[in-house]
Amino acid sequence: MDKTALALALSPLLAPLRFVGRSGRIGSLKELEPLVERVVAAARVHAGDQGAALDRLAASARGFDSAADPARRDAIAAMVRELSALIGIPDDLSALGQPMSDPPARMFSKGEPMRQTALFDNPQERPGPPDRSGGQDPGSRSPPQPGSEQRETPRERATPQRSLRTQAGPPVAPAVSADPLATPVLQLRGVGPAMAAKLEAKGLGTVGDLLLNLPRRYEDRRTPRGIDEAPLGERSVIAGTIVKSGEAHGRRRRFEAILRDASGAHLLLLWFHFRGSLAGRLAPGARVLVSGEVREGYRGGGKTMTHPDVEAGDEPLAASADPSNDSFGRVVPVYTEVEGVPARTFRRIVRRAADDYLRFVPDALPAAVRERRKLLPLAEALREAHFPDRFAEDASHGRPAGEPRRRLAFEELFMVQLGLALRRRGVKVEPGIAFRAEPSTLERVISSLPWPLTGAQQRAVGVIAADMRRAEPMNRLLQGDVGSGKTAVALCAALVAAEDGYQTALMAPTELLAEQHARSLRMLLRSSRVHVELITGALGQRERDHAARLLRSGTAQIVVGTHALVEDSTAFHRLGLVVIDEQHRFGVLTRARLMSKGHRPDVLVMTATPIPRTLALTLYGDLDVSVLDELPPGRTPVATKVFKDAAREKAYAVIRRELALGRQAYVVLPLVEESEKLADLRSAIKERDRLATEVFPDVSIGLVHGRQPAPERQEAMERFRRGQDRILVATTVVEVGVDVPNATVMLIEHAERFGLSQLHQLRGRVGRGAAKSHCLLVTGSSGAEWGPVARERLKVMEQTTDGFRIAEADLEQRGPGEFLGTRQSGLPDFAVAELARDQAILAEAREEAFALIDHDPELNLPENVPIREQLRLRWRGRLSLARVG
Ligand code: ADP
Ligand code: MG
Repeated sequence: MDKTALALALSPLLAPLRFVGRSGRIGSLKELEPLVERVVAAARVHAGDQGAALDRLAASARGFDSAADPARRDAIAAMVRELSALIGIPDDLSALGQPMSDPPARMFSKGEPMRQTALFDNPQERPGPPDRSGGQDPGSRSPPQPGSEQRETPRERATPQRSLRTQAGPPVAPAVSADPLATPVLQLRGVGPAMAAKLEAKGLGTVGDLLLNLPRRYEDRRTPRGIDEAPLGERSVIAGTIVKSGEAHGRRRRFEAILRDASGAHLLLLWFHFRGSLAGRLAPGARVLVSGEVREGYRGGGKTMTHPDVEAGDEPLAASADPSNDSFGRVVPVYTEVEGVPARTFRRIVRRAADDYLRFVPDALPAAVRERRKLLPLAEALREAHFPDRFAEDASHGRPAGEPRRRLAFEELFMVQLGLALRRRGVKVEPGIAFRAEPSTLERVISSLPWPLTGAQQRAVGVIAADMRRAEPMNRLLQGDVGSGKTAVALCAALVAAEDGYQTALMAPTELLAEQHARSLRMLLRSSRVHVELITGALGQRERDHAARLLRSGTAQIVVGTHALVEDSTAFHRLGLVVIDEQHRFGVLTRARLMSKGHRPDVLVMTATPIPRTLALTLYGDLDVSVLDELPPGRTPVATKVFKDAAREKAYAVIRRELALGRQAYVVLPLVEESEKLADLRSAIKERDRLATEVFPDVSIGLVHGRQPAPERQEAMERFRRGQDRILVATTVVEVGVDVPNATVMLIEHAERFGLSQLHQLRGRVGRGAAKSHCLLVTGSSGAEWGPVARERLKVMEQTTDGFRIAEADLEQRGPGEFLGTRQSGLPDFAVAELARDQAILAEAREEAFALIDHDPELNLPENVPIREQLRLRWRGRLSLARVG
């Protein structure tokens, strides 16, 4: 058996394993089974007497792709074990061989999951507290140290033996006490085994977990209102006594209760979904506190509250003066519900944890940063986040706000930026290719193009050439609106590489776009000897082999392709430059795999989606950014108008007018979900037929869609390009990669289903010639599809053609995850920070993070060691996943 050859042959399996190890996102792995199959087959010849082990390896992945996460985890563990029996595998992967009962720590999305690792991902692994002197008796339910500055509640004062014991106890140092935040919740007073189990089930096993589980929102319960004074349409808290309650049988099953407040006014409480236990809690005579939106009652009579939050008001309202009360008379935190733990009880537990343990939360932010940016100490920010006091006014509006929030958001963003700053250094120090990129070459390349470059293009080419000259690998993002001419810039870079005998790979997300790129590059290179090759999954085996040969021999200097580029069968002679178009559609692994086909090639990432600055910083903080903010001359703005379904005839009239002028039109249908492709296809065909028979009977209408075989699609595109078809009905495959200057009008059906940025992209397919162009947005017919919300949203499209403004609006409306439309974007989810809202905080955090790394590149200074530790713990996985290279 040839051990080295075997290791090499099996090495393609390491990437997916590493992905799982780093991100924990085992559910995102696709097509592992065929990969293992292929790799094992290729490894056979080197296996010698290890054939049986290879069989076991192959078997471990069988059924993986259709399995659920737990089974997948077991399969991965088995795979790692089989693999390590065959070859030496890196340490960071061997841990995966342990059966994983717990999913690896991960970042959290807003609100939902209970254990927010926003601040650190695993308290057990955190460094010890700043003060270890106060050892803790693990058997006691007491906090490790009596707090000097902490506020003691009367009840706590009533248990003096607690603090006595701690003070008098010997300095014991059992495992749990190394980090007070790792103290099990069971040790909190008031938490018994049953309660602890419920908390643990939600990932709240330790005091640290509780402290980092931030409230979703707040409720201002400082002043309960009388029913008469509670404004309609606003949330209010009302205290009173239940006078009558019971299930009512109307058209819908419901539970009703009538509450009377101190003034004798009545409020009707209503539930349409309820459990049997509600009747018990709302028995007549019960004193309760309800909170919810007050609405006008039925038939004009009185006021109602539907599905209010209810708490038993077993304490007199005078208790609201007591600062130790967590649920009355203050701005109250509202947490994600824990099954079986009443909200009040939960609050009390968190309060105890905060009172006794918050001071052990280490503040890793360098003191200088904290001072410069006037940030609260972490412990105080957390205390205020849980139980607003000094900043109660900020929180009283319901959402986390003010200084405490700023501190927490800053920390999250600072950590990301710090990681990016470190990564950027990492990328920059390893040597790559120093291209000659001589000015004379550039000049020749640029003047060979059929038109002069725009100013923005010139600047971009200049900066890219400078990057390429340097020995560090280029790592640049080229951002430019649809039609700004990114391809020409990429071409210049490719020609610079070719001049030195290096190949360029241009990867596009769809076959259509790859074909389009290949076509336009060949056009531009008509008179040169540079050879452009196309590699997509649509090629037949013979064409594929032919192309592969041209690649390996180096005959093809520019290779355009889809995913097929990263497949094992694709090898380069000398890959020097990787250009990735529409990058956010590619998984990070795909990108890395393409890069690994060369020796630290330069990387240029192009994106047409104008990514708002905030997001670009977070996503590509480690990339240098160039922007093409200027369109080539001769573009005409696209006039955009929204039509409701009932007014579609008016939209058709616009198309008829353009057709009469000899122009062409697109009709775009939404493709909502991958899984709906078939149904969609049917509706696309139907719509084409409907248009052909009922609406535009006198013109020829073509059809392109994602399910078409490539030759058929190319044929349809060709017919449209030649003008044989005057109208092209398309699913969103036209989004990228179509360039037909004579097409001056685009009608988009169900425009409300698209994101604004996507609409903007689509719209960019018209207005490519000199004639005035139109974009007609037709909405659906139902109320929601043509409601004020949809109309408001789409109005942005009528008002502006500025991709940047549209992207900002889109981001605001949809949030970053959906905006990017991909799970693999490498965008961390934040618990506190909101990108659309926190631009200023982000800018500050970035400045500080990059300055820190400039000053102390490896975070070796003593004052920076805590932050390095935090960084390692918190961002492990997430940042390395998003690594470029
Ligand atoms: P993008 O990829 O940024 O959307 P393209 O690279 O596809 O834009 O360019 C859009 C169109 O503009 C193409 O038809 C291209 O040939 C043309 N073009 C690019 N640069 C220029 C220029 N400097 N002057 C005139 N036309 C240009
Ligand atoms: Mg393009």
